[in-house]
This record gives sequence, C-alpha cells and structure tokens, in this order.
Amino acid sequence: MKAPEFEYVLVPTLGDAFKHLASGEDVRVLAGGQSLLASLNLRLSQPNKLIDISRIEGMSGISVANGVIKIGALTRHCDIEDAPLIKTHLPLLALAAPHIAHPAIRNRGTFGGSVALADPAAEWPACCLALNATIVAASQAGERRIAAADFFQGLYATALQPEEIITFVEIPIPGKGAVAGFSELARRHGDYALVGLAAQGLRIAGRWSELKLVFFGVSDRPVNACEAARQIISGEGIKAAQMLVDQSLGFSGDDVCSAETRLHLARVLLGRVLASMESKQA
Ligand code: FAD
Repeated sequence: MKAPEFEYVLVPTLGDAFKHLASGEDVRVLAGGQSLLASLNLRLSQPNKLIDISRIEGMSGISVANGVIKIGALTRHCDIEDAPLIKTHLPLLALAAPHIAHPAIRNRGTFGGSVALADPAAEWPACCLALNATIVAASQAGERRIAAADFFQGLYATALQPEEIITFVEIPIPGKGAVAGFSELARRHGDYALVGLAAQGLRIAGRWSELKLVFFGVSDRPVNACEAARQIISGEGIKAAQMLVDQSLGFSGDDVCSAETRLHLARVLLGRVLASMESKQA
C-alpha cells in the first residue's frame, strides 16, 4: 500500500521544528523513518505534515561528562553498536544493539525515534529503564527531563507532549562492580522479541545490589521484575527469582505467543542472563 498524501518539510533547526509542532496542525516528527514510514504505508497513521528533523545539527552523537553518557536523539542504532564509549561504559547497549532489526534498519533508525515510539518489544526503551536513563525533551516552552521509569506509560504511549521533541538521553555510568546482561527470544534474528531481558546490576564479592531485570515484549511497556531482582539481591538464588518473575509483570498473550508461553520464556531467559552475568564476575 502507498502512504497517504502529506506535506514534507525538512527543518534546519529545532526552533523551526517547534514552530511547526506548535501550529495546531496534524504534524509528525520524522527521524530515521524506519517505523513512521511503514505505519504511513500501512495507513495506520495519516498526518497532514511530516517534519524531518534528521539534518538538525547537534542532535546526534555520543559524549561523556561528569559520569554521564549523553546520546543525541538522532544517533543511529549502528553508531551506538560500534561506539567505543558505549562498549566501555554502557556494555548493555552494545549487547542489545545487534538484536535490533537488520543492518539496513540499524543504519537509519535512531535512538530517539525508538524511545519516542515506545514499542513494548523494542530494545532501547528496556535498556533505558535498566540503566536509569533520563529522557530530555524540548519544545518552545523549554526543556523537560523525564526519568525513564516515568516516561514509558503504555502501548506506544509516553510522557512526551505532542509539541515536544526528544533531543537527547542521559545515562549515568554504572558504578564499581557493574555487570550487564542481555538476551531475547524471537522467531527469527532481527524480528521484534517475543520476550527479552535487559539486566544491569552491581556485583561485588559475589553479592548483588542495584539489580534491575527489565523484561520487554511481555506486556504493554518494558517492566522491571522487582520481586525477582529482590530474590537475587537477598541471595535466594536464580530458581527463586524464576518462580517470582510473574509477580511484577503483566504477561500478555497474542496471536503469536500465549501469556503462559511468555512466562515460561521469561523464566528461561532469566536463568540464562543471570548465569552469564555471574560467570563474568566469577
Ligand atoms: P521514525 O520512524 O522516524 O519515528 C518513529 C516515531 O517516533 C514517530 O512517531 C516519530 O514522530 C517519533 N519520533 C522520532 N524521533 C523523535 C524525536 N526525537 N522526538 C520525538 N518524537 C520522535 N526496533 C526495535 O527496537 N527492535 C526491532 O527488532 C526492530 N525491528 C524492526 C524491523 C523492521 C522490519 C522495521 C521496519 C523496523 C524495526 N524496528 C525495530 C524499528 C526501528 O528500530 C526504528 O528505527 C525505530 O523504532 C524508530 O526510529 P526512527 O528513527 O526510524 O523513527
């Protein structure tokens, strides 16, 4: 199917983008286009105007300052996958990146686009939650900082206001003893995950603290399995955590996978990911 007609505007600055977004027209931001254009072609969305922000300077790239990694919203998935700063300080993102779609999509799709879309089966939103990221959004009214825990609010629903654009995401570099783990199960590599797990914690002398076990693809948003993490932190072991994995998560079923199967897969992933994290620190 072809996309419906729309006006296309390539904006040179954020200020120009804000003016269009504040105009009251039915306007959508276009970044990498890897999700938005597909949804137009499928007529799931029919905005009057697309505001292409992809050429705005200063919205792309990865930097570090004061113990925080800053990722520009227009940074492409492939640039995160290959960045030495990410491999050194945020290995969780480096582990997750190869699971996002295929190279052609990773070459165009952006970090900010994925966070703004908030697909419940997407990798970056889950990593943002596991890493205590802050999403920075801007509009004509100024800048707003939103914790990842408050940002993802439901199926493709976020705390972002219609006139706001994500400009960058800040992620604190995890402290001493940091260990990351990631895995997902999909029907084919590159498909959205049936169930995925992004995990981040501190492990010193065999003891866990600050552990986050964020599942994605299991419900309408990424969810931290707090009860399971508590079992691990208190030393109850992986089996106890697996038994409690359903306590904080609302597993949902669909045509592809029942809720029961998702719960089973989540337990399997939890075992694999925690075992691999513990072996890194053995
Ligand atoms: P766009 O498509 O340009 O925009 C997506 C949405 O976000 C739009 O609503 C747009 O208005 C909004 N938006 C974009 N940028 C901003 C911003 N800075 N501020 C505010 N709003 C913004 N993703 C995964 O995570 N995992 C997968 O396994 C996966 N598989 C895929 C398979 C296929 C075949 C395809 C086509 C896509 C897949 N994707 C997957 C999606 C891909 O990662 C997209 O790149 C990503 O979801 C959106 O990024 P984008 O830059 O392309 O955004």
